[in-house]
Amino acid sequence: MNIILFGPPGAGKGTQAEYIIHHFGIAHLSTGNMFREAIHNKTPLGIKVKTILDSGELVSDEIVVGLVKEETSKSVYNNGCVFDGFPRTVSQAQSFDRMLAEKNTPIDALISLVVPEEELIKRILSRGQGRPDDTKKGIKNRLSVYQNETEPVLNYYKKKGLVKIIDGTGSVESIFNRIKKAL
Ligand code: AMP
Repeated sequence: MNIILFGPPGAGKGTQAEYIIHHFGIAHLSTGNMFREAIHNKTPLGIKVKTILDSGELVSDEIVVGLVKEETSKSVYNNGCVFDGFPRTVSQAQSFDRMLAEKNTPIDALISLVVPEEELIKRILSRGQGRPDDTKKGIKNRLSVYQNETEPVLNYYKKKGLVKIIDGTGSVESIFNRIKKAL
């Protein structure tokens, strides 16, 4: 089973991804986590993307798609995967489709977590993970990047009939129950 977990920053994608992978026994691919790990380890990729992540802008489609392609060739993804934070542009979604068609492993559903903006900002500021992009300015920019570049991805998958809209407010457990029901 392949699932895309979709939603603005602070919507709870990372938290729900953990629940989904344990429940369904599938892998987790978070492009944001991969970039943060590369930055932490000061790899050439990390050095290249650090200022982009700090600013809240998007890493180029070419880099992201290359990274996902390489990562998903590993056998841990053979059983399926939760894609968290990818695809984030329509161009990434198109490349992703080609990638999945080659491997004959289609997307089963896109879970779209819906949370009001005030709540998103509150959650990110209280996340307390000390992420360098979790400042008020960084958050505002990530939200506007989300609206301009990422939200159109939803329509792309709506046309394919794969979108499940999920209320992302309430307790972590109640949100996960909604996801389970939708799947
Ligand atoms: P996230 O942890 O998903 O919020 O991602 C953190 C940051 O990593 C984003 O603000 C982007 O700078 C970068 N990033 C993660 N995933 C992508 C993607 N699919 N396309 C472009 N940039 C990404």
